[in-house]
Amino acid sequence: MLQLPPYVTTFMKTFQDAGYRIYVVGGTVRGLLMNRDILDWDFTTSGTPEQIMKLFPHSFYNNSFGTVGIPIEADGKEMVFEVTTHRKEGDYSNARHPDSVEWADNVEDDLARRDFTMNAIAFDGTTITDPYNGQEAIEKKIIKAVGDANIRFQEDALRLIRAIRQAAQLGFAIEKATMASLQTHAKLIMGISGERIQGELFKLITSDNAADGVMLMKDAGLLQYILPEVDDCFGVEQKSPERHHMYDVGTHLVESLRYCPSSDVITRLATLIHDIGKKETYHKDPETQIITFYNHEVVGEKQAKDIATRLRLSKKDAQQLVMLVRQHQFTVSEEQSDKALRRFIRQIGVENIDEMLALRTGDRLGSGAKETSWRTELFKKRLIDVQNVPFSIHDLKITGHDVMEHLNIKPGPQIGKIMNALFEMVDNEKVKNEKDALLAKLPTLLQ
Ligand code: ATP
Ligand code: MG
Repeated sequence: MLQLPPYVTTFMKTFQDAGYRIYVVGGTVRGLLMNRDILDWDFTTSGTPEQIMKLFPHSFYNNSFGTVGIPIEADGKEMVFEVTTHRKEGDYSNARHPDSVEWADNVEDDLARRDFTMNAIAFDGTTITDPYNGQEAIEKKIIKAVGDANIRFQEDALRLIRAIRQAAQLGFAIEKATMASLQTHAKLIMGISGERIQGELFKLITSDNAADGVMLMKDAGLLQYILPEVDDCFGVEQKSPERHHMYDVGTHLVESLRYCPSSDVITRLATLIHDIGKKETYHKDPETQIITFYNHEVVGEKQAKDIATRLRLSKKDAQQLVMLVRQHQFTVSEEQSDKALRRFIRQIGVENIDEMLALRTGDRLGSGAKETSWRTELFKKRLIDVQNVPFSIHDLKITGHDVMEHLNIKPGPQIGKIMNALFEMVDNEKVKNEKDALLAKLPTLLQ
């Protein structure tokens, strides 16, 4: 028997006492059956939104989804329970929005409009309603469309990528007929908005099985529409005589994502696309057979911008994505000067150092290299050390005021020039960033 927390049972009793039927439903029941922690509580009821709102005066109604949100105090935490009136859906005309939504008077009709059998189970606190054998699908770890997959994907093409995203999150396989239907209708994903695709793609690439999920998108024929730049990289060889690459570019990208240690979604996306410029810049020398990809990070930068636009990334996310792709070729060498390292940090931004290194770790492991090299470890240590040196004139240990006072000069452009000159000297390690040392240099800068 499924166990519900007391605050859920109490909540459901309010409906039952008022004469309505209420069920825990969808991903929530699936989570209960799989013994997962439940973060979102979703319910379906025979009561209409107006009737629900009478029972819970603090609730709020989201008209476009017909969902009533009810704030609940659960074990000292504020949660919002989402309650939707039983629905059946009318005809679909554009693979996304049903033309009409009607209330249904029984839970079976409501379950029939849900996407996958594992998501079409209801539980009223006593009895499980499972007309499509969703429990069996969960046991077998299978994602299967409710009813005819061909019809269901044509009704709503978002279901195409929902199937793959949920497979990646849960570690489930997609049932054969459902997968065949995905392949048949993959192109319909073009009718789904960038925002919605972003939502699903982000969940997919931050899931436990992100790399397998991307391969599943490829097998389903969705990758060519969602990230064609990545799809195009499969089959682009990069093996040269005496070079270490064992994978083609596409496989390397997916493997890099597999090993990327960051949980930041933009870093993970950047890792998945970092080498997309290689397709266009591929060159094989006919004599030596050596393959090169000159400036692939510059071509990749442009493609990353396209991807950011298509997926409707925020300006900040887009900038981070593009920067990570553009800079991913940074060099790690013991011969680099501290100044060069500081220039690198200035270019990527201090806040992005860890993310840039996470991309590199994915890149290395995704090429079959071992975890780390002494070079990388040394580089990481130096990246920290060189940050003790100022990055701009604002970090200098004296101010424009000190300069004016010490040299007895008036405000004017000369102050800025002197500050810049001081910064140059500190940056070049000609003087320490200490107040007395800096003041002592001032007279030499006065012209
Ligand atoms: P998660 O919350 O982990 O993303 P979920 O299965 O709960 O997974 P939601 O998007 O929260 O997914 O949707 C809740 C339920 O609504 C689903 O379990 C499913 O029954 C139904 N559902 C959601 N989107 C669709 C859709 N596009 N077509 C049909 N049913 C859907
Ligand atoms: Mg949910």
